[in-house]
Amino acid sequence: MSTLVASDLDRTLIYSAAALDLAMPDAEAPRLLCVEVYEHKPLSYMTETAAGLLAELADTTTFVPTTTRTREQYGRIHLPGRAPRFAICANGGHLLVDGESDRDWQRTVAARLTAECATLDEVRAHLLRSADPAWLLKERVAEDLFAYLVVERSLLPQTWVKELAEWADARGWTVSLQGRKIYAVPKPLTKSAAVAEVARRTGAAQTLAAGDSLLDADLLLAADRGWRPGHGELAASGWDAPHVTALSERGVAAGEKILRAFTRAAAAPARSC
Ligand SMILES: [Mg+2]
Repeated sequence: MSTLVASDLDRTLIYSAAALDLAMPDAEAPRLLCVEVYEHKPLSYMTETAAGLLAELADTTTFVPTTTRTREQYGRIHLPGRAPRFAICANGGHLLVDGESDRDWQRTVAARLTAECATLDEVRAHLLRSADPAWLLKERVAEDLFAYLVVERSLLPQTWVKELAEWADARGWTVSLQGRKIYAVPKPLTKSAAVAEVARRTGAAQTLAAGDSLLDADLLLAADRGWRPGHGELAASGWDAPHVTALSERGVAAGEKILRAFTRAAAAPARSC
């Protein structure tokens, strides 16, 4: 039975130093593998055990890294194991096939966004008009598809994100707060839509998924089985679904647990009868 494993990366499989959450005594901390370097410095890690599990999983399933990162940001990550045939970047905006963005998929996405959503320019203008320079650190556009702000969380008013989400919702956009980043993303730009396309092309019999943020909710809902870590936007909001396991593990330990769960589920898929 062929299994497609579509997993978010940041704070699901890979973790920055700040997100590792190494709660155990130092002498018992797991050995870590650095999987991303940014500006000549180590940035993202997984445990050595998780790295071994991922390498195995990449041999036995169709493993699809499924990220909101841009292609450039994704390109900095060097996951263990064989290079994935498919990868999903820009929250579903780019479907990489053997490292190249699929043109047919780009056209499909562009048509949906034009038909269903306010333009990126309109949303950016609103973001810049309403954000306060007191807490706004950076404003960025990703792949000409969506925008995000980097903010000083301690100064960010709680109500601002809620008001932005309401404004955006009426215009076909969704808002997600992850760490220091506030994402504004067109609603049809989803990880699940791109995963469905990979499932169609590969004929996968079951799909497993994992993710930690609101932008992963559709990915988890569309999968046959899913897992979410004990930290992150979904955990904080108490989000759940019957086929999604809410793990108690937090930080890099959750990444390892998720890979174990993928491995077990791929080896013994749930029977439909
Ligand atoms: Mg994430």
